[in-house]
Amino acid sequence: MRPNQLADALAALSGAHRYRQRTLLDSPQGPRLVIDGREFVSFASNDYLGLANHPRLIEAVQQGVARWGVGGGASHLVAGHFAAHEAAEEALADFVGAEAALLFSSGYAANLGVLTALLDRRATVFADKLNHASLNDACVLSRATFKRFKHNDLEQLAEQLEQSPTGTRLIAVDAVYSMDGDEAPLARLLALAERYDAWLYLDDAHSFGVLGDGRGSLGECPALAGSERVIVMATLGKAAGVAGAAVLGSRRLIDWLVNKARSYIYTTAQPPALACAVMESVALMQAESWRRERLFERVRQCRVMLGAGRFMLGESRTPIQPLLIGSDADALRVAATLRDAGLWVPAIRPPTVPEGSARLRIALSAAHSEADCLKLAEVLQQIE
Ligand SMILES: *Cc1c(COP(=O)(O)O)cnc(C)c1O
Repeated sequence: MRPNQLADALAALSGAHRYRQRTLLDSPQGPRLVIDGREFVSFASNDYLGLANHPRLIEAVQQGVARWGVGGGASHLVAGHFAAHEAAEEALADFVGAEAALLFSSGYAANLGVLTALLDRRATVFADKLNHASLNDACVLSRATFKRFKHNDLEQLAEQLEQSPTGTRLIAVDAVYSMDGDEAPLARLLALAERYDAWLYLDDAHSFGVLGDGRGSLGECPALAGSERVIVMATLGKAAGVAGAAVLGSRRLIDWLVNKARSYIYTTAQPPALACAVMESVALMQAESWRRERLFERVRQCRVMLGAGRFMLGESRTPIQPLLIGSDADALRVAATLRDAGLWVPAIRPPTVPEGSARLRIALSAAHSEADCLKLAEVLQQIE
């Protein structure tokens, strides 16, 4: 891309219904959003438990700032590792039942840091075709041979493992797929990882706080716990309502990452007050299981209400409910009609999803009411 080509390239994106714009929010995150002075019921957030704007998290940040100040100041290895970070790591590891945890400033940085720390040119990484973009980038940047298998096709994965050289192997999947809401078969993946002596890397961005009593994959599949080959990456900006990510695994693994993960080493530590909020969030996730109960009640209600409509709902028992539409233009049209009716539902287009599978990504939260779901179903029913 040369400087004088940008204008034409942007116009081409527009013409292809691929131009993206940011929406300006005038309210905190939640099921009601204020945009351009107008209130919408929003199904656009990964704040699954309704914690992003919770008074106890707000208070934890305020007290954290009073105690620790604002900036992290330096990288964790230089002079930026605060007692608040250490305590949050311990709380996270305890909660999910892992030996140890390491905080990263984002899920993107965590994926990148772990894969590049464990893999090199002689390694092979096996990845589901529907993995998150950040995980794909991590695979590419690791310089390992990058094998992708058809979504949840473990026979193809087994063939690829069988044919791969006997160097370091790593299987990387999303535990819950971000645009489809379906899940990876954890127990069968673990069996393959053991059979072929591979790492099993689980991106728990949409599983942590939601599945397995909030403990994510480790709660969902007890066989994973205690295996030194299992690595879980939980993001903290989604159900946890804060920011950042935690890598959970053996103490040795964490020790290796502190030494080798470049996206951990060469970046300033997250503000310690956010680690205080993470601790508060973990406490709420543990104490308030009603949030998950209410969330799954909304999932069931929504599936009944929308299942009868004209658009097909993907197979998902998680808060991510995809309404499959097809063409980019149709997806944008349906999203615009919903917006006119006061409903904010994002249209997701390629390259985020495969060509021809543009969709509305409905994300549910414990903070939604049954009436919110009903309104969505009613408006959708009127669209032909
Ligand atoms: C959101 C997401 C990430 C990135 O996490 P951030 O903390 O937002 O950088 C990684 N993987 C998956 C599956 C995600 O949905």
